[in-house]
Amino acid sequence: MTGMRTKRVLIVGGGSAGWTTAAYLNAVLNKGAQKAAEVSLVESPDIPRVGVGEATIPNINNTLAAIGIDEADFLKAVDGTFKQSIRFVNWLDNNDDFYHHPFCRYAAGAGEDPGRMWLMSDRSVPFMDTVSAQPAICEMGLSPKMLGNESSGLSLVYAFHMDAMKFADYLTSFSTARGVSHYVENVVDVEMHESGDIAAVRTDSGTRLEADLFVDCTGFAAHLIEKKLGVGFEDCSQWLLCDRAVTINVPYEHFYPGAVRPYTTATALSAGWVWDIPLQTRRALGYVHSSAFISADEAERELRAFEGQHAESLPSRVVNFQVGRRRQQWAANCVAIGLSGGFIEPLESTGLYLSQIASEALAEYFPYTEDMAPLAFRFNRVMANRFYEVLDFINMHYCLTRRTDTPFWREIRRPERINDRLKAKLDFWRLKPPSAYDFEDQFFPGQPAASVQSGGPSGDNRSPVDTGRLWNHHSYENVLYGMDFLRGEFRALYGDNRPRPGILRRVQSAVQSAPGKLPPHDVWLQRMVGMSDFR
Ligand SMILES: Cc1cc2nc3c(=O)[nH]c(=O)nc-3n(C[C@H](O)[C@H](O)[C@H](O)COP(=O)(O)OP(=O)(O)OC[C@H]3O[C@@H](n4cnc5c(N)ncnc54)[C@H](O)[C@@H]3O)c2cc1C
Repeated sequence: MTGMRTKRVLIVGGGSAGWTTAAYLNAVLNKGAQKAAEVSLVESPDIPRVGVGEATIPNINNTLAAIGIDEADFLKAVDGTFKQSIRFVNWLDNNDDFYHHPFCRYAAGAGEDPGRMWLMSDRSVPFMDTVSAQPAICEMGLSPKMLGNESSGLSLVYAFHMDAMKFADYLTSFSTARGVSHYVENVVDVEMHESGDIAAVRTDSGTRLEADLFVDCTGFAAHLIEKKLGVGFEDCSQWLLCDRAVTINVPYEHFYPGAVRPYTTATALSAGWVWDIPLQTRRALGYVHSSAFISADEAERELRAFEGQHAESLPSRVVNFQVGRRRQQWAANCVAIGLSGGFIEPLESTGLYLSQIASEALAEYFPYTEDMAPLAFRFNRVMANRFYEVLDFINMHYCLTRRTDTPFWREIRRPERINDRLKAKLDFWRLKPPSAYDFEDQFFPGQPAASVQSGGPSGDNRSPVDTGRLWNHHSYENVLYGMDFLRGEFRALYGDNRPRPGILRRVQSAVQSAPGKLPPHDVWLQRMVGMSDFR
């Protein structure tokens, strides 16, 4: 590589996306004697961060490891707890039905396809309990880890619940101690080079900050990528109708449910769904809903009624959002990461994930040389693929519902609410259930060949492909079979009395041994990271 010198990177915005990018680039690009990036971050003292009580997915463990963060330190700093699954309640029929989407399951025996075998069996054991011990371990309220550092032998994959504001604070001290420069000032102006690249930003205190590469982490404001560079936004609200959340926090000092659940709960309500995210000091709740179907006041009333009388006096907050993506996350010498780069509603906890993989991809495609365009092309392609991968998966949770009890759920079921990519997948899986082969490159008959709206000079409008690195056939099977997909078709074709998958025996033995090995989740948190005892 020619022309290699240390590049100046300026991150504008200090929410969890800005600080994740700063910490990640500083740790990964500046290993040993080689300093590839001089990283600085400027954030406003006045504009607050978004932080609602966040759930994450297991990729966060890679990010923390790459940055060099100790798990116990992290859990203490961010009010953190373990997450092993999402429990979806009332998504199918609104009669207290539920299914789990756990993070791990056991490997099947040679030649065994547990999904297909389960569909042909009597299904008296739900699919989730046939392939994974984690739903039962979650229902028992157990930690995924033993006390101390011993292995339980159960190999449970986990992620975390956290306070994203505290995460940003933690990363601030972590990164500034390791060489990241920090400015607390409002950016008021952006200066351009004649080439169309950004030259510098100016702040209200008169500071001028130059850089080779700018990262726009200004949240929904998108100060650089949109307001200066004019890169457009692809709206995706025709497939995901929710555009607002009403949130409340239930401190344990006010009301303690008796345990800290080691999973996120997502309960469908009249015009959307509620997240219930347990932290060490409180539960964070948010009713994600569609403003076309319910007013913010009604949503707040429904949320309080759902939680119970103890929620009556608790303060609430409204957060508006738009579902969609930046047409080019990387344009000229500016990369948008976090909410400025796009947002998909939080049903599968992918907000922080998208910032984490954008930081990883930026380190991978870091512009050591002057010619950034080919790197930007690949970065944009990878990020577009990931965005649509998440979009399809979340779209699927809604469109398989059987609910007809409210106008919102009747609207969700209309065919035009299913995007073409997902429709092609579901049509294909009606011919054969999903399996690993389908996830090498998810391009199915009937899928439109051109659907990425890149809006850029590259003209890359090829259909995005899923790589299976985020959701694989295990993830799809959990949701599809939790939502009764193919049940009727398989019963009509094969009856329902074939043997159950052999994997079930291993799962049942793991479930039996779990209470002897794993402590209750709150006991683990009290002993290992100093959570208070609220019982
Ligand atoms: C309703 C909702 C629920 C969510 N739930 C989850 C979840 O469960 N799991 C998950 O992983 N993610 C979730 N997210 C996403 C997650 O909260 C955000 O992605 C994350 O906080 C990253 O935000 P950000 O850093 O991009 O933006 P923000 O937090 O908005 O930060 C923007 C930063 O830019 C700064 N800034 C803005 N303008 C200027 C300026 N002119 N000069 C200087 N600085 C400026 C601000 O001061 C701030 O520091 C959710 C988001 C929403 C909206």
